[in-house]
Amino acid sequence: MAKPNINRYLRQSLDHIFQNNKKWVSSKKQTDASFFDKLSAGQSPDYLYIGCSDSRVPANEIMGLEAGEVFVHRNIANLVPNVDLNVMSVINYAVRHLKVKHIIVCGHYNCGGVKAALTPADLGLLNPWLRNIRDVYRLHEKELDAIPEEHARYNRLIELNVMESCRNIIKTAAVQQSYQENQYPIVHGWVFDLGDGLLKDLKVDFEAELANVQKIYCLSPGSNSEH
Ligand SMILES: [Zn+2]
Repeated sequence: MAKPNINRYLRQSLDHIFQNNKKWVSSKKQTDASFFDKLSAGQSPDYLYIGCSDSRVPANEIMGLEAGEVFVHRNIANLVPNVDLNVMSVINYAVRHLKVKHIIVCGHYNCGGVKAALTPADLGLLNPWLRNIRDVYRLHEKELDAIPEEHARYNRLIELNVMESCRNIIKTAAVQQSYQENQYPIVHGWVFDLGDGLLKDLKVDFEAELANVQKIYCLSPGSNSEH
């Protein structure tokens, strides 16, 4: 009978996770006896990380950061749509309450979400979500179409999609007003390479992007923008 075997397998896989959790707790206590007292006391992370939900890109692990050091939001293809209450709430809370100093958008090569957006297919509920990536393609159509090799074009769209998410973050009132008052947060665009594990900094010129965005999207009266 196949069914009981499958059930046993599922139970075993969850047991494994609880065992891992206990090992993790004891290793943390060994290194720092007050580790969980500190975690319970509150959080004050310097970073907000917005990345892809892809299981191969674990935020804390690739940055070598501990629990409590980074506020994390993940969704398919690290998008920051203007009307998405989830990501907008995360940005608002991280900037206005946690007062993070850096916001990082981290995409990754071989992103299935970006690949799907390049595929001519009806993907149901994913259509409106992935439409944001098709819009990025349309904005950079000339540059992308000039890249003859398909994989290189796909990689470049992944980078441009990260840049677009950075701009969408810079368009928020929370970021513009906090930067005007405090000179932070700074927004960064990175891409994680699954092939070698390295993070690539796309070197977003935050000041220049902010000035550019504020020509049209200024939500911070009295800022340096002339418009
Ligand atoms: Zn992805």
